Amino acid sequence: MAEARHWNLLNTLFLTGTLALALALVPWRLAASGLRWSEALVFLAMTFAIGTAISGGYHRLFSHRAYKATWPVRFLFLCLGAAAFENSALKWSSDHRVHHQHVDTEQDPYSIRHGFWYAHWTWAMEAKDLPLAGVADLEKDPLVRWQHQNHFLIGAVVATIPLWIGFATGNLLGHFVFGVALRIVMTHHTTFFINSAAHMFGSRPYTDVNTARDNWLLAPITYGEGYHNFHHRWQWDYRNGALWYQWDTTKWLLNVLGWMGLVGQFRRVPAEAMIRARLLMEEKRLRERLVLASPGVITPMQARLGSARLKLDAALVSLHERHEAWSHKQAEWRAKGLAKAEAWREAKAEWQVSLAVHRAELKAAWAEWKAARLEARSMLAYV
Ligand SMILES: [Zn+2]
Ligand SMILES: [Zn+2]
Repeated sequence: MAEARHWNLLNTLFLTGTLALALALVPWRLAASGLRWSEALVFLAMTFAIGTAISGGYHRLFSHRAYKATWPVRFLFLCLGAAAFENSALKWSSDHRVHHQHVDTEQDPYSIRHGFWYAHWTWAMEAKDLPLAGVADLEKDPLVRWQHQNHFLIGAVVATIPLWIGFATGNLLGHFVFGVALRIVMTHHTTFFINSAAHMFGSRPYTDVNTARDNWLLAPITYGEGYHNFHHRWQWDYRNGALWYQWDTTKWLLNVLGWMGLVGQFRRVPAEAMIRARLLMEEKRLRERLVLASPGVITPMQARLGSARLKLDAALVSLHERHEAWSHKQAEWRAKGLAKAEAWREAKAEWQVSLAVHRAELKAAWAEWKAARLEARSMLAYV
């Protein structure tokens, strides 16, 4: 017999109550007096600031330690993040680290195996109260400890900023409806979509060992967190939309803060590793589909795909190693203050020649892989 569910009354009432309030008040207010520019502006600013504090602070900084931040940035993210009303950064990170460690299993606090709505929000309404685990590193930070003790009060102060603006502009109700009620609901559900939709809808270009998906449609409303397949593959990377054209406002903001010297030590997976993972997945999918082809052609085609992919893999690794070795050498020379010496110019020329050789190897391997892939696909077209 299934175990009876026990509900956390406060969480349940808060999550459903704020949604009901917004659903009732927003249409009424829009019909009665439309949307004023200050209401829209306050709503957008609060949503963006608090959502980014969850994405860049709670998630990438505290849960994953994907970069280092100075105390003013940590303080700001902790204060703004509290207004998301998603618990303290310490508790959020503890649950989230368990999610990554045990994704899709019974221990996953918001496992998609229990369905869309469970992963979305009913998990938070259940009175499970998981103990803090694996966050000893965060507990050393006095700011994190302070926020853990006072997150509700801090959140209440930050979340009611729109009321002060409403008070000053003589429009308290309008700012309450959009800046407080609707904003809280928006923040909740954009975070929740990552645990539900981004584990159900989208592509899996880097790994299929878990349910996490890349979903470009989710990215703009989740401050770049929609690329969840990449994130589960390399959770310690400070980017979620790692490719330059992928929408990730959190990554862009962190880059700006990095230029200002407020954050740093960004962790990034090398581009070669991303390409290799993509190729491995592509080969795996082609192999799986090739099983449908006639037995006589499966084996040679699979062997050809495998060898082309391995050759490309090796070329990518050797090019990456060349780049790494060169950056080390550069650092060494710089430390010695020899950057302008004649020997340096010679070493650079030598490196450029060897790089050209490696690039040519990569190009040839790439062409071989593309030919094998094309042949496998055309073969599949007749299956
Ligand atoms: Zn996930
Ligand atoms: Zn994560």
